[in-house]
Amino acid sequence: MNVVSDPKTIASGSALSPEANRAAALAAATGVLTVDLDAVVANWRKLESRSVPTECAAVVKANAYGCGVGPIVRALVAAGCKTFFVATIDEARAARAASALPKIYVLNGCFQNCGDAFAELDCKPVIGDLNELAEWDVFCRRTGWAGGAAIHIDTGMNRLGLSLEDAHGLVPRINAGNHGITLVMSHLACAEDLHNPMNARQAANFREIAHLYTGVPASLANSSGTFLGPQFQFDLMRPGAALYGVNPTPEADNPMQPVVCLKTRIVQIRNVERGESVGYGAIWTARRPTKLAIVSTGYADGYFRAAGGADGVRSAEVIVAGQRCPIAGRISMDLMAVDITDLPDKAARRGQMATLLGEGITVDELAHHFGTIGYEVLTSLGRRYARVYTGGTAVPAEAASPSP
Ligand SMILES: *Cc1c(COP(=O)(O)O)cnc(C)c1O
Repeated sequence: MNVVSDPKTIASGSALSPEANRAAALAAATGVLTVDLDAVVANWRKLESRSVPTECAAVVKANAYGCGVGPIVRALVAAGCKTFFVATIDEARAARAASALPKIYVLNGCFQNCGDAFAELDCKPVIGDLNELAEWDVFCRRTGWAGGAAIHIDTGMNRLGLSLEDAHGLVPRINAGNHGITLVMSHLACAEDLHNPMNARQAANFREIAHLYTGVPASLANSSGTFLGPQFQFDLMRPGAALYGVNPTPEADNPMQPVVCLKTRIVQIRNVERGESVGYGAIWTARRPTKLAIVSTGYADGYFRAAGGADGVRSAEVIVAGQRCPIAGRISMDLMAVDITDLPDKAARRGQMATLLGEGITVDELAHHFGTIGYEVLTSLGRRYARVYTGGTAVPAEAASPSP
């Protein structure tokens, strides 16, 4: 088990061993966010096994969806993952620091004069327009760098990518050989909606052009896309969210394992009379003599205000002493109140941990209460928690230094 916590909480220069310091930091932590690396690996293997002979990559942008890019990359490389996608060159740096081995693609591409960083890190830009490609070609000619790049083709998302026409224009270059293009890809706009006709349209557009890029591997599917059928898998799949436990098939049960567990301390237990209000705006009123647990997480930790309780509104739930309890009133910046009236007497006490995510509370359930999607729940996870990584293959303790 590796604990990553704010270096401030680990006494530097202390006589204690690093292990003891980490244990002390964990014992004193106000909140603990546990990432189950074995679950991430199991999720990756599940997607990979669906796709033989297609390669399965991993998308680790935004600090591996908030889960920590270093430990995630190391665990997946050990499991056999050979290709990673990040959004920016800074994220590529963090991924490369975790492993020298894999191919790393940078989804947001390359800016003029940024070629050197790509060469230094041996990573590949995903190029989404002809000017960008021209700049990249100039860099490669000038320096002799031949590390490769992906071409992103827009098939309906209208975000990044060459038009179909521009993509057709590159076919002679592909046919001439020595073109420096290592991947051709596109991105689905509606993959989580099984019945959306957009999916088949995008796949058809992509197939038509990818077919002309002879010898260049093709990639279309994100997490949900891998569940749309073999005609969406092409040569390389690019799952992100599903690796971290988000349900890629919202219309069916979640085939993925949960990855993140979030526990935070009860700061205080207090009693409230019937008729008294709780929290900012006084929008929640006790309808009976009420016992509250004040829990040390708020919206500054990525727990959205939308999940709070108001009179007549169902809030998200928090697990205290093994039982689900509703939130009373608004979520504050650093705190929330949980109604624990229905717990057995003395079941909850100050200093005890309450579970906000995990133990049956899924990322998708929280997303529902937050008014968003599981992706945003994960990428919003706070930075005030001690981070613990379980599982994974023999990650050395040093490897658990704070990830960006
Ligand atoms: C984020 C992203 C992915 C991964 O999507 P998930 O839905 O998280 O699996 C794949 N491809 C591109 C281009 C992306 O931006």
